Amino acid sequence: MGGTGEEAVYYCRDCHSLCIVVDETLASDMWDGSYCGKCHSTNIGECSIEEWLEVERRREQRRKEIEWNR
Ligand SMILES: [Zn+2]
Repeated sequence: MGGTGEEAVYYCRDCHSLCIVVDETLASDMWDGSYCGKCHSTNIGECSIEEWLEVERRREQRRKEIEWNR
């Protein structure tokens, strides 16, 4: 049992959602059948949960900055 928090997650490179759906009935040699459940992008990336949280923090900050500058 590792338990170091180094768990890998799959995320959408387009909307950064963790809501990834895997439909193995759609899989081919080129694609494993995974896509984003939110925007349906097949541009799926893999990273550690820490990395994902870091990017999410930055996205959240940018969202706030955009609101403040309105
Ligand atoms: Zn997406």
